[in-house]
Amino acid sequence: MSVFSSESFDDHEHVAFGCDAETGLRAIIAVHSTVLGPALGGCRMWAYASDAEALTDVLRLSRGMSFKNALADLPWGGGKSVLIGNAKTDKTPAMMRAMGRFVDSLGGRYITAEDVGTSPDDMFEMAKETKHVRGVKGVGFDPSPGTAYGVFKGIEASVRERLGAADLKGIRVAVQGLGHVGYDVARQLHAAGAELTVTDIDSAAVQKAEAELNATAVGLDAIYDADVDVYTPCALGATINDATVDRIKASVVAGAANNQLAEDRHGDRLAERGILYAPDYVINAGGVIHIYHEGPNFDRKAAFDHIGGIANTLTRIFARAKRDGVATHIAADRQAQDRLRPVAHAAE
Ligand code: NAD
Repeated sequence: MSVFSSESFDDHEHVAFGCDAETGLRAIIAVHSTVLGPALGGCRMWAYASDAEALTDVLRLSRGMSFKNALADLPWGGGKSVLIGNAKTDKTPAMMRAMGRFVDSLGGRYITAEDVGTSPDDMFEMAKETKHVRGVKGVGFDPSPGTAYGVFKGIEASVRERLGAADLKGIRVAVQGLGHVGYDVARQLHAAGAELTVTDIDSAAVQKAEAELNATAVGLDAIYDADVDVYTPCALGATINDATVDRIKASVVAGAANNQLAEDRHGDRLAERGILYAPDYVINAGGVIHIYHEGPNFDRKAAFDHIGGIANTLTRIFARAKRDGVATHIAADRQAQDRLRPVAHAAE
């Protein structure tokens, strides 16, 4: 297994491997960048097939957090940690405390939070060993309302950009996934006068949207063919792929799901087809912004104003895409990379 020559290494500042024989902890913490501040990123627990797979994942995710935090205007760099093991069968409170000690050993360069396979209860265990943890049970908040508000503001900005519409009255939106984030986005869209088409594997959520939000339900696959202005993916990743990219009739793609593009070339294809794509890690940053503001002095207005800034960030990315003649997912990466460039030393 190589580290420095790994394809995903991308000049990480720090990669640490942690082992605790007593609790079975085997974990990797990757700190991509601390140029903007301590590196914040969740702790994922997953039964990786190999150490190399775990390393690739943590490096890729950690770089992604640098970009996300930078464009969310947070004083945080990007990092991530992975715990190797099955979250359902291998996890113990003692292992979580060992992870807390591992996080603490980095002295605050890395701040952890929950992710796939970890929960606010796990953060509670880690918090017994380190103060560098967010989203602790009883202290942190559910980030979903923050994410949903950011997605709503991002849809407004994207519709303004692509369709020249001042508001969402009569704008037709297809919402895929009516979970914690998707339902809340749909609710805000309905309140703003949008017409909704929805789908979910959970028929109760669909029926609720029909009854409360006057939504029209379609099948799971039919959502890609919906005759709408906006496609809002709020379920799974990689829904923009070879099988769907040419079916989308919307002129805007803007939603909460992570990793919406199966591959970068699908973002290029959207741009070729004149479809404006709001890069996923920019529009869904409301949750991480919410996490930044959490704490005993939580100021809801300040947090939601900050989240509303996602609209301006997207508008700047759209302008850069036009200026550079590239698709919006590339423009977002360039914008983030500019922010992450270390400030030159005064003596230089
Ligand atoms: P969730 O699990 O509450 O909701 C997902 C919904 O999608 C569920 O209702 C589920 O039934 C539905 N679904 C699953 N498969 C589907 C399919 N094939 N077709 C249609 N619907 C399907 O999750 P969430 O917290 O609402 O997050 C939604 C997405 O946004 C995820 O991709 C998540 O990674 C991303 N995201 C969430 C947050 C947050 O704050 N919760 C932050 C950033 C990104």
